[in-house]
Amino acid sequence: MLGRLSILASVKKSKHCFFKVVFFSSLAYVLAFFGTVHAGPVERMAEALRFETVSFQNPDKINYQAFADFLAFIEQTYPRVFSTLSAERFSDYSLLLTWRGSQPELAPVLLDAHYDVVPIEQGTLQDWLHPPFAGVVADGYLWGRGALDDKMAVITSLEALERLLAAGYTPERTLYFSMVHDEEIGGHQGAAVVASALHERGVKFAYMVGEGGIVLPDNPMLAGKSMALVGLAEKTYITLHLNASGEGGHSSIPPRNNAAVSLARAVTKIHDNPLPVKLVEPVTDMLRVMGPEVGGLTGWLMRNQWLGAIPIAHQMAGDRTNNALVRSTSAVTMLDSGVKENVVPQKAHAVVNMRLLPGDKVDEVVASIVELIDDENIVVKLDSWGQSPPVADLNGEGYARISEAAARVFPESLIVPGMLTATTDTRHYQLVADEVYRFRAYRVSMSDSRSIHATNERLATDSLLRAIDFTEQLVLAVAKP
Ligand SMILES: [Zn+2]
Repeated sequence: MLGRLSILASVKKSKHCFFKVVFFSSLAYVLAFFGTVHAGPVERMAEALRFETVSFQNPDKINYQAFADFLAFIEQTYPRVFSTLSAERFSDYSLLLTWRGSQPELAPVLLDAHYDVVPIEQGTLQDWLHPPFAGVVADGYLWGRGALDDKMAVITSLEALERLLAAGYTPERTLYFSMVHDEEIGGHQGAAVVASALHERGVKFAYMVGEGGIVLPDNPMLAGKSMALVGLAEKTYITLHLNASGEGGHSSIPPRNNAAVSLARAVTKIHDNPLPVKLVEPVTDMLRVMGPEVGGLTGWLMRNQWLGAIPIAHQMAGDRTNNALVRSTSAVTMLDSGVKENVVPQKAHAVVNMRLLPGDKVDEVVASIVELIDDENIVVKLDSWGQSPPVADLNGEGYARISEAAARVFPESLIVPGMLTATTDTRHYQLVADEVYRFRAYRVSMSDSRSIHATNERLATDSLLRAIDFTEQLVLAVAKP
């Protein structure tokens, strides 16, 4: 039953042309009048999806012109925002907007988003129902890479800001909006640089809101109720490189000591001995909040974790998605050894990607893996993105303000604290924000949410419109003293 608990998405100046332009613009006007053509937020979002702002692991492959064009597009499309808020660029392509509040003594709030997207996996292009960078609107959806992750957040923020500015609104609290360009490859030129610049200026946020949670209408555990999942934490990302060495030589007289075999033994041990199952914050809070809605014995156990923690955690561990909520995970992702069929390799290399639960310390986990491998011919090297921010305060002002905005726009939803199993840019902002919340107001079904980083990424157009309403409400809620 707990199976699916977690997120559980040129006009030539000829006379002829002049008449053509007049004809078509009046036609557009007439159609717009009847509601057929609507150059509104949906079309602007579709346009945003047409810029191929792809972050490739290999920096030589990145087309920075697309990033420059995207920034030029938003600048042109949202004139009030760019004439009222101060706009700064970091590392050429990351944008920071500052909206000065009328009460500058109040601690500011940061809303973070990114506009880079992941590449299309080789050999999958033909599986897209609509090309990933065509910005197609069809069947009630916006189709394309970035529709969910995370251009949607950039565009909904700009739409909401433009609307608020048009209404003459000024925030009491100063608000910052970061729109960075390299989240998908670690955020070292974007969020990291923005955060350290803010830190140098002495800026300290009351809290920040980044990407993460979603509004899920079809959680099978909450019959008839949708769930607004607000992320209080995310897992820590580390990668281990296992380097095995052995004797090597001619395969006709094989040595006992074979680097490839040692390595195979080590990765098998890691795979077969997962880290222990445990219920930690904020997963405990998530279960506690959902318990009354779930009802029955499961609901009772979720509410009464003094008795329920162990059975619930073990039940969750049986499901692939929920398993990641109750333990630090490891996945063997790359293996490399050997050059020729009759040469015994002297070297073998494996990559193990791990995601740690809040509270699990990087050095302790690495030490436990080295102990488990127990092989002096294998050297383990750590590649760490650094520990993720601590669990944010469920009773903090940030959670209350996000909940307030969510309750206005998604009154049908139960607001639930949660944990993100993936990793975002938020760790870079620890310098300037103690409390980090994660929420995106897209109402997206379980199946649509699986299109993130995958084929046929899509966002329902009505979800986009509600997300703009939410962002407007969020700005109003967080800007209050
Ligand atoms: Zn993202």
